[in-house]
Amino acid sequence: MPPAERGRANRSPLTVKQMQVPDSGSSGPSTDHAINPPEPFNLPCIRCGVCCTVYQVRISPGEAREIANSMDLDYWDWVGRYCDPRWSDTRSHLIRHDDHGCVFLDHSRREGSLCGIYRVRPLSCRDWAAGVFKPACQAGLKEIWHVGVDDSGQLQGSPESLADLQVFLNQL
Ligand code: SF4
Ligand code: SF4
Repeated sequence: MPPAERGRANRSPLTVKQMQVPDSGSSGPSTDHAINPPEPFNLPCIRCGVCCTVYQVRISPGEAREIANSMDLDYWDWVGRYCDPRWSDTRSHLIRHDDHGCVFLDHSRREGSLCGIYRVRPLSCRDWAAGVFKPACQAGLKEIWHVGVDDSGQLQGSPESLADLQVFLNQL
C-alpha cells in the first residue's frame, strides 16, 4: 500500500499529452485510437490516502518487531497500542484503524496523506502500487481532483480539473 512518500518509486515525468485531455470538438473515437488504443494513464500515487483508509493491513510478527524497534517500543507494548485486539490469528497482527483509517496515516501534511512509518512500512504496503484502474485510486482522483477514469484508463474531467491535477503531478 501507499503513502508517506509512498508512490515515489512509481513517479515518472508526466506530460499533458499523457493525460489525454478529451477533445470537446470530437464526435467520437478516432480511427487511430480504434486501431491503437491509447496506453492507460500511468498514475503515480497522488497521496490521497484512500487505500490506507479502506484496507486494514495484516503483518507478520517480524514486521511488528521491526516497527516496534523503530519506535523504541517493547514488542508487546507496540502490539497493544497499534494492533487490532479483535484479530484472532496468533501468527500475525492486524494494524489498528481509527476513525480516519490506518493509525499510521498522517492526514495533516500539506503535501498529502503520508505514512508515518514509511521507512519500515509492512511488505503489503510496499507491494501496493497506485494504478488508474484501482478503485481506491479512482476514488482519490474523484474526491480530491474531480477527475474520473474511462474504460481505457484515460483521465476525464473539466480542463480546469485536469490542469490542476497536472500541476500537482508535476510537483511529485
Ligand atoms: S489510493 Fe492510490 S493514489 Fe491514493 S494513496 Fe493509495 S496508492 Fe496512492
Ligand atoms: S502502514 Fe498504514 S499508513 Fe503506512 S502505508 Fe501501510 S496502511 Fe498506509
